[in-house]
Order: sequence, then structure tokens, then C-alpha cells
Amino acid sequence: MKGKKRKVLIVDDNPEITSLVSIILENDGYETSVAFTGSAALEKISSYPPELVLLDLNLPDLSGEKVLKRIRKDYEDTAVVIITGFGSEKVAVDLMKGGAVDFISKPFERETLLKAVKSALKIRDNLIEEKRHEGYSSLEEFFPFLAHEVRNPLHAIGGALAIIQRRSNLNDPLVAQSIQIIQEEVQHLNEFVQDCLDFVRPPAANRYTFLEIKELIAAVVNVVSYMFEHRSRKIQITADLDPGLRKVHANYEEMKQAFLNIVKNAFEAMEDGGELVIKACPRSDTGSDWVRIVFSDSGPGIKKEDSKNLFNPFFTTKLRGTGLGLALSKRIIEERHGGRIEVESEEGKGTSVIVELPVEVREEVA
Ligand code: ADP
Ligand code: MG
Repeated sequence: MKGKKRKVLIVDDNPEITSLVSIILENDGYETSVAFTGSAALEKISSYPPELVLLDLNLPDLSGEKVLKRIRKDYEDTAVVIITGFGSEKVAVDLMKGGAVDFISKPFERETLLKAVKSALKIRDNLIEEKRHEGYSSLEEFFPFLAHEVRNPLHAIGGALAIIQRRSNLNDPLVAQSIQIIQEEVQHLNEFVQDCLDFVRPPAANRYTFLEIKELIAAVVNVVSYMFEHRSRKIQITADLDPGLRKVHANYEEMKQAFLNIVKNAFEAMEDGGELVIKACPRSDTGSDWVRIVFSDSGPGIKKEDSKNLFNPFFTTKLRGTGLGLALSKRIIEERHGGRIEVESEEGKGTSVIVELPVEVREEVA
């Protein structure tokens, strides 16, 4: 979330150093944790990945070099800054070739530390941003091509099927069933192609208006109830919307799509019925400049190992999923509206999708 503390892991076998560094960083608004050995460091990284590791080279068990190697191999998104003792700068420079972004030598000043931490995080953020765009540009070219190649034959199949349907004996259950299967498969492919196109459709910057969250949610609930005609009788929807909620500067169609993907997932999760609660309120810590919308369902929840993949394009656990729904919602909410989306879930209890939107979109996003 905006204003969320950035996580730094401090790895050094000297408790005086770790506590000093920790105090300095905490005072500057970071969230820190500490490890005194290499193996403890790796454990912490796997259970609660930090964005940055400050790594001492001389650890009692594993060498700093080994720890760095492991981080580089398994935790691409974690940056490493080496802390060196007097005289080991040469090694530190070598380690920078091995993927550390910077090094600082002991003893260091408060300012040096803070500067190194800040710039290392910046380098990390830039790398992640670049990586994201690399992945997208190829999809951006591929999806329209795919859509074109798939849609034409689909039209032809649909047309031919209509003829077969007219001329066949639909009293033969096998024929009727076969026709139905083809129809469903064609529809599924059409939807898949539409999802792909929606995912890469460029943002329409000029269509931003001030929209009422209440209206948006009503529209989305409407569409979903229609889509899931059968299931919607078994799903109770409760909307708890703060009456003083401000309008949000956003693209209506896009935001509707983003919310629709979220609510669709909730419906799909609650196969045997359940409850969906949609809450909207001003975000508490910053007054009413942001609005917070939470969609909580009583479905089966999400497995822990799946939770880190939810927003990856093509990640799906459904037989008929595309895995593009949440990826697109994130794109719309975060990249195009400067907001945030997060999922919290507990297996067996349900899932909450939390969306936060700034009332005004920042210039560079719109
Ligand atoms: P799709 O719906 O096509 O699978 P999404 O990107 O919309 O793709 O969702 C990705 C995955 O996230 C789903 O396959 C599902 O495993 C999980 N998921 C999303 N929302 C929920 C939810 N409300 N309850 C349980 N699982 C969910
Ligand atoms: Mg979905």
C-alpha cells in the first residue's frame, strides 16, 4: 500500500552493528529485521522476503558470497548491499560483479548508510519496472495477432454450426449434445480472445471522469448476477458503502472491467453459494484522498503457494481460466490509476481483494 514501509534485512554477526543499523533505518521509516548468520538470513529471506539485504561478508557459517549467490538465484527482486570490514573492499567490488548493487565499508556514517539504502532500492525498483515492460511488449504484439488468427475461424465455425443445427435431427440426443459442446467451446475461445485483447488494449487517457463508486459497484453486481444467473440465487451480496465517499477520477469502462474481474472470481470461487461483502470507505490514514474498496467472499480461499502468482498473466487454477483477470485488474488499478490492489486470503475461510484508489489520478499516470 502507499506509504508502506520498505523491508530491509540486516545480516551481520556483530549485534552492536545490527542494532545500530536497525535503529538508524527504523528512524528513517524502514522496517528492519536482523540475522546473525548466513543460514538465518536465508531462512528470513524465504519466509518474509525483504526488498533489500545489507550483507556482511564475514559470517560465522556461510560466506557472504554464498549467501549473495543464493539470493541472486532464488530472489530476483531482492537487492543486496555488501557491508565490508576495513581492507576488504577488493572482495566487495568482486561481489558487485556477482550481483550486489553497492557496498559500504565499516565504519560508516549514518548518512552514508541511508544514501546507500535509498539508492539501492531505487536501482531495484527500476530493474523490476524494466522487467515488467519486457514481458508486456511481446504480449502486446502477440495478442492482437492471436485474436485475428483465432476469431476468423471461429466465425466460420459458428456459421457452419448454425447450418448443421438447422438441418440436423435435434431429437437425437447425441447430435444435440455435440452441437452444444461445439457452441460452448466456441464461446469459451471467443471469451479467451477478448480477455487477451483487453489485457493489452492501450489506456484511453481522455476518458477519465469523476465516477461514483456506488454506481460502479451497482453496475458490476448487475452484470455478474446476469452472467451467473443460477449461482447468484445462492450468493448473498451485501454492499456497505460509506455515504460520504468521494467521487474518483477514473476511466469508467476500465474500472468497471477491473472490478468485474474481481467479483467474477468471487462468484466462481463460491460454487455452492456463499456471501460477498463489498465495503467502501475513505482510507483512514490519509483522510479522504483515497478510497478503499474491499471485496470479501466466503469461498474456499487461496493456497499459500498460489498467492504470490495471482497477478501473473496466465496464472490460473481453473480448468477454464485464462489467468488474465487479476493481471488486467492490476494493470488498470495500479498502472493506469495510480492505485493499489492486494489479495488477502486464508484457506477455508475466504478471500478479500483490497483496492485503493486515489481520488485524483496523478498527472504521470493519466
Ligand atoms: P482466472 O479467473 O482466469 O483463473 P484470474 O487472474 O482472475 O484468472 O485469477 C487467477 C487465480 O486467482 C484464479 O485461478 C484463482 O486460483 C485465484 N483467485 C482469484 N480470486 C479468487 C477468489 N476470490 N477466491 C479464490 N481464488 C481466487
Ligand atoms: Mg478471473
